[in-house]
Amino acid sequence: MPQLVLATDLDGTFLGGDETQRRALYDELIARADELTLIFVTGRDLGFIADLIAQPGMPQPDLIIGDVGTTVVDGTDFSPVTAVQDWIDARWDGANQRVLDLLADEDELELQPVMGERRVSYFYDPARPPTAAIDKARAAGYDVVTSADLYLDVLPKGIAKGPTLTRVVESLELPDERVLVAGDTLNDLSLFQTRFRGVAVGNSEPALLGAIEGLDLVHRSAHPGCAGISDAIDHFGFFAPHLDLDPDLPADDGQDHQ
Ligand SMILES: [Mg+2]
Repeated sequence: MPQLVLATDLDGTFLGGDETQRRALYDELIARADELTLIFVTGRDLGFIADLIAQPGMPQPDLIIGDVGTTVVDGTDFSPVTAVQDWIDARWDGANQRVLDLLADEDELELQPVMGERRVSYFYDPARPPTAAIDKARAAGYDVVTSADLYLDVLPKGIAKGPTLTRVVESLELPDERVLVAGDTLNDLSLFQTRFRGVAVGNSEPALLGAIEGLDLVHRSAHPGCAGISDAIDHFGFFAPHLDLDPDLPADDGQDHQ
């Protein structure tokens, strides 16, 4: 069983911090690969991730949750984790064109050039909040997540980074008490609304920090990106030799938190 299951956002989090801070974390994770399950949890698509992990010195993920929680693949061969992927497919039911049609006249939205198989993604301008479009998509039965005052994703109902990670942990029978989630913007919020320990890295956006107030299992690190993750690994003692993490975990209430 792994000592640490690190489920981390990429931009601003696992790719954040300065070069020295990134190198320090990556080197530790590579040295401890036998004790680690590494999961990338990102809004990025698989093409971006393939380029990223081809870079020398980059730790290799065991699993990838891409497209804001709507794609789940093995980190080595990118084969779908069907136990989770099929659940997401069923919830989306091939809705891309229906969403495009639904929001075609919403001129606050600009379609992103990337198209996930189970999401539709737009840009928006925070000076012109796309309130009507969000209401329309939600009324039609979809979830909507905005992030970084720039990105808007229309997602299958009940699917986001957090619920998908929870399914992955259950499906692969990973130990709850060894999971650390890490993020920096509002589309990471659902990661912190799980039963897992978490770290909001030092460069987190204010909207995320406001939203996680009162969540006891989330460490607010003073350090940016990778340095924040390293800080949280120490803070919670994941690699400490004789630490029993179990007693601090709240009882699982069986709910799928979002
Ligand atoms: Mg991020």
